[in-house]
Amino acid sequence: DAKRRGRNTWQTFTPELARQQHDRVQVEAQLRKALDNGEFRLVYQPLVNLADGHVRSAEALIRWRNHALGELSPEVFINHAETTGDIVRIGGWVIQTACRQMAAWRKAGLAPARVAVNVSYRQFLTEDLVPLVAACLQENQLPGELLELEFTERVLIEDAPDTHRTFEGLRKLGVVLTIDDFGEGYSALNYLRRLPIHGLKLAQPFLRGVPGNESDAAICQAVAGIAQALGLDLVAEGVESSVQRDFLMGLGVRTGQGFLFSPALDPDAFAAYLRQTGQPASSL
Ligand code: C2E
Ligand code: MG
Ligand code: MG
Ligand code: MG
Repeated sequence: DAKRRGRNTWQTFTPELARQQHDRVQVEAQLRKALDNGEFRLVYQPLVNLADGHVRSAEALIRWRNHALGELSPEVFINHAETTGDIVRIGGWVIQTACRQMAAWRKAGLAPARVAVNVSYRQFLTEDLVPLVAACLQENQLPGELLELEFTERVLIEDAPDTHRTFEGLRKLGVVLTIDDFGEGYSALNYLRRLPIHGLKLAQPFLRGVPGNESDAAICQAVAGIAQALGLDLVAEGVESSVQRDFLMGLGVRTGQGFLFSPALDPDAFAAYLRQTGQPASSL
């Protein structure tokens, strides 16, 4: 029996496993060289005031185009980069590039735009993060409040000994700290009191069920209540319809991000979007 099961297992799974293994090796080999080959770029998605459409800030999102693999989603390759450790160098490039872009926009007289950067779990644990952020801000003469770092609940849950020191260091720089995809992992509510967090981003899946799914709507409402009670800023991700926008405004949510307003844009297109939406002098 064991033998037959074993053989079936082989027959059923080996080709698939082999293909996955091959893909993984391929992706990781290309990933290793991608930074030096200049294959990454950042695009920027506006976060807008739901009431008047003004741009409040932008989220920088990485894009990777590779000659052999084509365009890969960050949902996929960020995980590989976490496994190999390449994420630390890539993440450093992201912070540096976003800061340079912000400085360039300011020089061009464009008011915004606090820029939010995603920081992966592994990158968050490196000792270099705080000095790296400090250096990027200084080189580009940016006050810390213009940079926002988004990280996931995993950072809070694993509670590594260095986490608190890192948060403290970032807070001293004035950097804005936000929990991304809130509600998607295990929500670590107790950490919301202990760490210097500024805001939450409601994970997309909950809004996807609105309108129609009552439990999704209830979760959105509950998260809005938590944010309000704790004085945290709340951003809704994945706003795709005006019904969703109105629902959020009814909950007192002020800021949203999603295809209803704009997808992520190249820097020039983002600047054009700012001009077109009549960005006020300062969004801070
Ligand atoms: P995220 O940080 O939660 O980013 C939001 C994702 O939702 C982005 O996908 C964005 O394009 C997408 N999105 C925005 N509005 C809508 C909408 O209305 N509907 C739908 N269906 N989707 C919307 P993207 O750019 O593919 O990024 C996926 C994830 O990859 C990000 O999720 C983030 O976790 C990760 N990521 C992206 N860039 C970076 C980076 O520079 N560093 C790290 N560590 N992770 C990154
Ligand atoms: Mg994010
Ligand atoms: Mg998110
Ligand atoms: Mg996400």
